[in-house]
Amino acid sequence: MAPSVIHPPTRFIADAMLGRLARWLRMLGYDTAYEKFIEDEVLIERAFREGRWLLTRDRCLTQRKVLCGLCTLIASDDIECQLWQLNQDLKIDLDVNRQRGYRCADCNVLLVSIPRDEAAPLVPAFVARQYQEFLQCARCRRVFWRGTHWEDFQDRIAGIRNHCTDEADSR
Ligand SMILES: [Zn+2]
Repeated sequence: MAPSVIHPPTRFIADAMLGRLARWLRMLGYDTAYEKFIEDEVLIERAFREGRWLLTRDRCLTQRKVLCGLCTLIASDDIECQLWQLNQDLKIDLDVNRQRGYRCADCNVLLVSIPRDEAAPLVPAFVARQYQEFLQCARCRRVFWRGTHWEDFQDRIAGIRNHCTDEADSR
C-alpha cells in the first residue's frame, strides 16, 4: 500500500549517491534518512514505512511503478543545483531561519539549545568567549554555533534562493 506522504514533503530518504544533499537538507531542518550502503529494496521499504519522499540519482529506481509520485530523480551532481531542483519541483523552502529547527548533519537528530556554560568546556576557548548561543546534538553530543561555517552555509543557501527568485521573475 502506498504511504501517505504530505505535500510538499518534509521527510526524505536519500540514496547512496546523495550523501551531501542529505547533510544539507538536515542542516536546513529537514528530516532526511541516509545510509551509505543500502539495497534498493530496503531503501524503498524504508521510504514507505516511514512516509519519506525518496530522492535518487538512479533513473531505473524512479521508473518503478511502486514509486510513482513518491520520488524525485535528482538531475545534477552539484549540491546547489540539487537544492534548486528541490525548491522548484517540491517547493521545499530554503529559509535557514524558520520553525523547523536544525538537525545534526551526521545524525539527523534535532539540535537543542544549551546554555553557554554547558557548552564552554566542549568548544574552543575563543568560541566560548565570542558566541552566546549554542546547540547540541543529543546523539553525538557535538556542539554547534553560528561561526564562519554557518555563515558560509547561509551565504550559499541565500545564493540558491536568489537564483530561484530570478528564475520566477523571468517567467
Ligand atoms: Zn549528531
